Amino acid sequence: MPSTAHYSIGTPGQLWGAAERDQWRARQVRQRSYADDVLTAIEALRGRLDVEMYGDVIYADAQHPAERFPLRALRSRHWQPGLPSVLVTGGVHAYETSGVHGALRFVDTQAERFAVRANLLVVPCVSPWVYERFQRWNFDAIDPNRSFRDGSPAQESAALMHLHRRRASSPPTLTCTRPLIPTNPNTAPPWPRATTRCSSPAASPTASTWWTTPKTPSPRFSRPSLKP
Ligand SMILES: [Zn+2]
Repeated sequence: MPSTAHYSIGTPGQLWGAAERDQWRARQVRQRSYADDVLTAIEALRGRLDVEMYGDVIYADAQHPAERFPLRALRSRHWQPGLPSVLVTGGVHAYETSGVHGALRFVDTQAERFAVRANLLVVPCVSPWVYERFQRWNFDAIDPNRSFRDGSPAQESAALMHLHRRRASSPPTLTCTRPLIPTNPNTAPPWPRATTRCSSPAASPTASTWWTTPKTPSPRFSRPSLKP
């Protein structure tokens, strides 16, 4: 039976304009600190992998003074062109908190096992403003995970694409949206095997792999009918 419930901003069936976006933005409240939770944790992992600064996200409007978020990734110290490259991302939809902390924990507990087997590029929190607000959309009410394309309207998506292009010797040909982190590190192979649900137009053993961390929907997020 179709639901008659609809979101409290806007008119069902009509695209949002600036007024609806501003109304939505005014409701967003900062609830935690990207600097404390993520940047501090990344600094603490400096001994495991190198820290790469790959830009800033800056948001501002007439009601909000400029907020700047430095973007940080962790990467293998000795990047070798002949090895497969693995990109681990968390916090694209940063209300999915487990992805952020799962990526940080991966570096802490698993990164060493990949040494000389793969180049690692770990981006624990792709969308910092979103992380602080327990949101899915960024400041501009744009979904960063629908914005990985040329001319991206989402700053954080554009920055990640730029980083990837700079680091990868070839664009990703294997896309996985499920977590591939072994559930039992004692029995699982050090190199994650591609799984059957990956879309792989031309996967090869050296293809770059997009690897996303698990996600957990936040109970605070109540907007219905959204896909991952
Ligand atoms: Zn998501």
